[in-house]
Amino acid sequence: MLHVNRRIKDMLGSTTLAITARAKELAVQGHDVVNFAAGEPDFDTPDFIKKAGIKAIENGATKYTPSIGTQELREAIAAKFQKDNGLVYKPSQIVVSCGAKHSLFNIIQVLVDDGDEVIFQSPYWVSYPEMVKAAGGKSVVIPTDAASGFKITPDSLKKHITPKTKILIINSPSNPTGVMYHKEELAKIAEICVAHKIYVISDEIYEKLIYDTNEFTSIASLGREIFDLTLTVNGVSKAYAMTGWRIGYAAGALEIMEYIKKYQDHSTSNPTSISQAAAVEALKASPESIDQMCQVFKKRRDLMLQCLDRVGKLSYIRPEGAFYVFCDFSKVGDATMIAKQILDEVKVAGIPGDGFGAPNYIRFSFATSEARIQEGISRVAKWIAK
Ligand code: PMP
Ligand code: GLU
Repeated sequence: MLHVNRRIKDMLGSTTLAITARAKELAVQGHDVVNFAAGEPDFDTPDFIKKAGIKAIENGATKYTPSIGTQELREAIAAKFQKDNGLVYKPSQIVVSCGAKHSLFNIIQVLVDDGDEVIFQSPYWVSYPEMVKAAGGKSVVIPTDAASGFKITPDSLKKHITPKTKILIINSPSNPTGVMYHKEELAKIAEICVAHKIYVISDEIYEKLIYDTNEFTSIASLGREIFDLTLTVNGVSKAYAMTGWRIGYAAGALEIMEYIKKYQDHSTSNPTSISQAAAVEALKASPESIDQMCQVFKKRRDLMLQCLDRVGKLSYIRPEGAFYVFCDFSKVGDATMIAKQILDEVKVAGIPGDGFGAPNYIRFSFATSEARIQEGISRVAKWIAK
């Protein structure tokens, strides 16, 4: 019998990646699939960013870079943190990795020791529990529901803290719910983490996809002590439609970042040199270059919500950011089965909520055209009526 590492043997595959791959496969076979599974913008990477990649190849930027990323990119990231988030990190406190997923994985590997507890809420992004498992840690999940706005409260957080608590992961705006933590809420969470000396991983990958008048706050900006305890994670995938380029980054206390550097030195080395050069241009660009994509997402969100309202039996919390609507299917039936059936029978791909720790739900991504949103929800409505 195959014997594998005890930390890896119970690792689950990624539901998001599996369903997305299955939807693409069905489309290749000629089926007319409405893809609400996608966890990525459907837009093409903006031209000025592509050109920077091409120029990098032509100029010979095709060699190893420092493992933690080029000085130029780390300076651009430091400037971004200061300008957008009010965070003052030195370039030496920043490590660039192959996507925010890789940054999160590195941090968890470095900080979590056998038996250490990592707190996050459900619904959670599918990869958090598996990353904690891979590090030998224990996930402590705080359940949240639609009634609590899918958010943890100071009380629920305090109840889950033990002497073994090492890290709290906060993801705002959230995948899969689109819910955001606002400044006052983050301040209360920060106070508790400071009092208990708990590190915070702030997954800010959807920072640039925020709708209406909602404002983004980085938890690390709320005081010196929480700044020192926070590892801020972000990347270019979602904001700049650059998922395939694989550039993410993390910033935090120098002492921790030096361990992350060593870990990355011996695993991936540097993320792709060409992608790094393109990311510099992305981060230096004016906000208008991406505002337009955000406006389009907002229109699609409004449309998807309108279409869902007409279905009747489905409920959701209005997403404030990201590009997902997390739909409660409990009035219709077993959501895990339904996700499978609507893909097989009417070719609509959504991600079942069990992978996010919320089995009554299906996640629909609105990172697709208005026509496809109308078509997809109408297929679901007809399927339910039948
Ligand atoms: N965090 C969350 C919550 C996400 O949804 C994603 C998307 N895959 C990531 C991190 C990682 O993004 P990437 O690795 O593409 O930067
Ligand atoms: N974050 C995206 C999603 O949740 C991409 C897939 C993944 O990396 O999990 O669908």
